[in-house]
Amino acid sequence: PGKKVLIVYAHQEPKSFNGSLLKIAVEELTKQGCSVTVSDLYTMQFEPRATRNDIVGHLHNSEAFNYGVETWEAYKRGGLSKDLVEEQKKVQEADLLIFQFPLFWFNMPAILKGWMDRVLVQGFAYDLSKVYDGGLLQDKLSLFSFTTGGGPEMYSKEGIGGDIRYVLWPMQHGIMHFCGVKVLEPHICYAPENVSEEKRKEMLAAWTQRLKTLWKEEPIDCSPEWYFK
Ligand code: FAD
Ligand code: ZN
Repeated sequence: PGKKVLIVYAHQEPKSFNGSLLKIAVEELTKQGCSVTVSDLYTMQFEPRATRNDIVGHLHNSEAFNYGVETWEAYKRGGLSKDLVEEQKKVQEADLLIFQFPLFWFNMPAILKGWMDRVLVQGFAYDLSKVYDGGLLQDKLSLFSFTTGGGPEMYSKEGIGGDIRYVLWPMQHGIMHFCGVKVLEPHICYAPENVSEEKRKEMLAAWTQRLKTLWKEEPIDCSPEWYFK
């Protein structure tokens, strides 16, 4: 109760399975007394491209553009574009970040990847030698909640897709852990398009159930062993 949650949501269709998972999270967490903010990226028409437009006013070096350097400098002088500042404020205030999306090419959809690229700026999310356990977004939790096209048998160590944890390495370890954010167990709904209506209802009920005890969960040990052991 009283916890702040930011849900970054990347699906075009409210009637989708992802849309249903989002709705459940908003309802259940609100019921618990959490304050829930949603960044609905497609509805916001969130800009995924990391460009010169992210810097308001003069460039640090206008001879050769370097996105990392320019956003870092702009962050320090309060010169990042308004949409980024708004997202950073939401992140800053949140105790928990939930990412809700369908798996696209073993990864997050481009619009969500663009959110990561543009919002988690140096100086804000990490800094020189302030990375991983020393990252700047400490005392926050994250949770990757996503759906797949392939079934669980495809995403096993011996399966054609390999262990699903392999796709989580860049997202959970490379991004969240890098920025100092702790990582809760992912929530994966396999192949909602290819299962029975009954199974879909079961998967949605499992999400509701998990959210009820979410705040008692311990973060995973986000080290290479968790992913590749
Ligand atoms: P939907 O199609 O929206 O939902 C499935 C079904 O659930 C629908 O019939 C819907 O009506 C129903 N439903 C919605 N809400 C409810 C409810 N409340 N109760 C009961 N039923 C409900 N998959 C992979 O595994 N690996 C990949 O690398 C991969 N790459 C992709 C790349 C691209 C570009 C695309 C477009 C897809 C890719 N996929 C991949 C498949 C993708 O991950 C799945 O299509 C997606 O995860 C399905 O989720 P959805 O929310 O879109 O499903
Ligand atoms: Zn890690």
